[in-house]
Amino acid sequence: MYVDLHCHSHFSDGAHPPNYLVRTASEKGISHLALTDHDCIDGVEELWDRLPQGETDAESTNSMRLIAGVELSCDWNGLEIHVVGLLEDPRQQALQVLLLRQQQERRARAAAIADKLKGINIIGLEDYLAELPAISVTRSHIADFLVLKGHCKSLQKAFKTHLGRRGKAYVAANWCSLEQAINAILAAGGIAVLAHPSRYPLTRSKLGRLLHDFREAGGEAMEVSYGNLDPTAKKRLLELADEYALYHSCGSDFHTDQAQWTALGKFPRFEPSATKNAIWEHPRWHSCVAAGRAISLTEV
Ligand code: AMP
Ligand code: MN
Ligand code: MN
Ligand code: MN
Repeated sequence: MYVDLHCHSHFSDGAHPPNYLVRTASEKGISHLALTDHDCIDGVEELWDRLPQGETDAESTNSMRLIAGVELSCDWNGLEIHVVGLLEDPRQQALQVLLLRQQQERRARAAAIADKLKGINIIGLEDYLAELPAISVTRSHIADFLVLKGHCKSLQKAFKTHLGRRGKAYVAANWCSLEQAINAILAAGGIAVLAHPSRYPLTRSKLGRLLHDFREAGGEAMEVSYGNLDPTAKKRLLELADEYALYHSCGSDFHTDQAQWTALGKFPRFEPSATKNAIWEHPRWHSCVAAGRAISLTEV
């Protein structure tokens, strides 16, 4: 098993179309790939319409298995938390309703940011965003715009000076709650996975409280291996996952070939001795995989 269960296409803030991710993942020998765009499944739908459901056993058919996924931004006690959903039915209605609301919220926030930027004589954001293939508009796109137009030297600086909490054009988002995000994933027959737990500004005890609330709300897994995670942090996450009875997931959080630390498939693989609670042991893993698509290595 070589699974990458977290990556982004150009339908959210990834740089590449879904087809490119599929091709690159198969070339790297990945057995299961989940496309998990921020608050949209348009990349999944594009692939779903083009690819056969085919055989379900990736290892015996020499094909990669594509799993429908999503990464939902949500609010937990005023903090933005990301929950990855591995889905059986991405077109399920409650999920669709939630996604449309989140996308609408993203557009409203981008418009408010555009207004703030106009106040400091930065114009043209709306025109720039209108040309993008993105269905979910993110601050990452706005950071690209600020760098491209010469207002900021780097994406990091754009977040620091303009888009982050203390930035000149910061606008808070009004995300759904942690419970709403998990409920929508469960309604779609999915598994809710807490994304990159070490990236939130939380003390040890507060992270424990988050994991407790996540589990109470129906969350069943967490990422314990991803790009740029040091071995000490990884060990602590494994312990926490076991303490809160959460299955272990992993994914690169790939966005672009420009960022080498988060290349597709790049993160420490699970140790064979630690696979007892791996995500593929989850009772609903097989239904999510079976509902997915087969990519034959000769096709891509
Ligand atoms: P949003 O979901 O619209 O708030 O946009 C957040 C996205 O921007 C994340 O998914 C990251 O891909 C990216 N991002 C967040 N913070 C930073 C940062 N400090 N530097 C670069 N990219 C960032
Ligand atoms: Mn992103
Ligand atoms: Mn995230
Ligand atoms: Mn992500």
